[in-house]
Amino acid sequence: MARRRREYDASARKTGPSHKRRLCDQKTQERSLISQRSQFSSPSNHERLNTHAAVSRRRSALICFEKMLHIVGADDLYVRATQTRGAVILMYHSVAGKDAAAWIDPANHLPPEVFERHLSYLNRHRKVVPLSNVLQALQRGDCLSAGTVSITFDDGYLDTLSTAAPLLARFSFPATVYLATGYISRGQSQWIDQLYGAFVSRTQDDLDLGGAGGAVWNLGVTFDRSAAYAWLKQRLLTGNLADRNALLAEVEGQLRPYGMPPRLTMTWDDVRTLRARYPAIELGVHTRDHLDLTAHSNDVVAAELAGCIEDFRVNLGFPPRHFSFPYSRANRDLSRMLADVGLESAAIACEDPVVKAAADRYCLPRIAAPCSTRLLGLVTSGAYPDLPRRLVGRA
Ligand SMILES: [Zn+2]
Repeated sequence: MARRRREYDASARKTGPSHKRRLCDQKTQERSLISQRSQFSSPSNHERLNTHAAVSRRRSALICFEKMLHIVGADDLYVRATQTRGAVILMYHSVAGKDAAAWIDPANHLPPEVFERHLSYLNRHRKVVPLSNVLQALQRGDCLSAGTVSITFDDGYLDTLSTAAPLLARFSFPATVYLATGYISRGQSQWIDQLYGAFVSRTQDDLDLGGAGGAVWNLGVTFDRSAAYAWLKQRLLTGNLADRNALLAEVEGQLRPYGMPPRLTMTWDDVRTLRARYPAIELGVHTRDHLDLTAHSNDVVAAELAGCIEDFRVNLGFPPRHFSFPYSRANRDLSRMLADVGLESAAIACEDPVVKAAADRYCLPRIAAPCSTRLLGLVTSGAYPDLPRRLVGRA
């Protein structure tokens, strides 16, 4: 049995739907698009895999090219030549060590040693500032110089306290941590990690979600596993908390995972410890139940915003100032609603991460920190995405 479990684990982690996404966020988006397109056009599995492989090859070539731009110093030259200005906000999630990382979707995780390399690079080559510095510049109608970086974390992983904060303190770096307050109150793992954990520690391969609008999958088959994970991810992302928990319970009931993950999320006691020990870390909110705000009515959105502000205030004694959009999904109505409830800024991951003087404080661009330190150098230089776009038409 133990051997079988290890095999499940290894195969899911090697070929699972989210493997390699830690390498590059954009790569994931392309994969996801391919997956969605395939559902509608219904090509054969063989055609799908060929398309997938071709996209992967193009992405790999572009990533190599972008790393080369940084290695030869083209990014710094471009910034000087064009007098580009603007800070870059980096987005992280989990930096858990191996034991906890085995239960976290790789798309949300960077190993602590990679994170430490990032900080070391930023210490040598960039200027790390609090988010409030970026906002003060915007208030003056200005922006900060290229090479200025602000660090943010989403969700409220326990390793933000145990691993990231001590490393940040070693470099005297400030950061902003956005909390999904309902998950903090319940000390509950993020739904994506519950799903990931059920897949990697499953003892059953058959998953029948036909009654829930899905399909029947054999998770022992790589393609089925990817398709099931993608379908579930989309359903869980756009659903409300009750539907999400019911679907996860159904998946866990059928897959019968053999193990329980360690606690992955901070509690409010942990958050208070984080605040007391690391005063350079500012806390913000990320909704209460980690909902896709664009998938729900204004009443639900208003309740999510009021709920996370209330949770934050009751447990920490002061109101939050900053917000980040779950799944980087937003629209104009949401910006207005955030201003109405007294929040001062909102961050959202997007294709162009440079915070220019004209940036909207309720739509602050940021970018998922790439695993590669060379890519980190490029995306924090101020030359990304303009330089690769000018040279090869895309970034
Ligand atoms: Zn999130």
